[in-house]
Amino acid sequence: MRPAAPTAAPFLPHVLSLPAILEALPGCRGCSLYEHASQAVGGEGPRSASIVLIGEQPGDEEDRRGRPFVGPAGRLLDAALEESGIDRTTVFVTNAVKHFKFEERGKRRIHKKPSLTEIRACRPWLEAELLILKPKILVCLGATAAQTIFGADYRVTKERGRLVTHEWAERATATIHPSAILRAPHEDRNREYRLFVDDLTAVREALEGGN
Ligand code: SF4
Repeated sequence: MRPAAPTAAPFLPHVLSLPAILEALPGCRGCSLYEHASQAVGGEGPRSASIVLIGEQPGDEEDRRGRPFVGPAGRLLDAALEESGIDRTTVFVTNAVKHFKFEERGKRRIHKKPSLTEIRACRPWLEAELLILKPKILVCLGATAAQTIFGADYRVTKERGRLVTHEWAERATATIHPSAILRAPHEDRNREYRLFVDDLTAVREALEGGN
C-alpha cells in the first residue's frame, strides 16, 4: 500500500476561526518543515479584510519573529501598498506554506523553495483561512502562491494582473513576490517595483469599482 501523502489536515481545529487556527498551527506535523524552522507563521490581519495577500512562505526574519511579511520583502510590500492606496491594516497577509524552508550556509539561512508535496501538505491551513475570510479579492504574490491557487500550469509572467473568478474568493489574481523585486538586477528594480505598484493599484480600483 502506498504511504499516505503528507497533510496538515489532521492538525486543523474542529471549529474554524482565525484564533483557533493560530492556536493549532504550532502543533502541525503535516510535513517535515516544522523540524528545522523556529516556529509556524500564520496569517495576520482583520477578519473583515476584503483583500487577502498570499506569499510563498515565511522568510528568515518572519521565522524568528513569528509574523508574516515583516522582513525586507514585507517592508517593500508595505511601501507598495501605501503607494497603491491600499491600507495595510485592512489587508490579511499569509503564506502558502507556514514554516520557513531554508538551507544553512555558514551562519546564514538561505531561502529554499518548498516542494510540491510540502505545498500540498500545507494547503489545508490556507484553505481554512480563506474559508473564514471569504475575501473579495485574493492576490497571489509569486509563483508558489499562484500555483497553489490556480494550479501548476499557471505562469505569473504571462498572466499577472488578470482578475478571474475563483472558488475561494469573488476574484483572484497574481503578481510577483516583493522578494523578486529585491533580487532583480539593480537597473531593473525600479521598473519591477512600478509594475508591482500598478498591479496593486488595479486591485484597489477593482475593489472600489466592483469591476
Ligand atoms: S509547513 Fe505546513 S504542513 Fe508542514 S509542518 Fe508546517 S504548517 Fe504543517
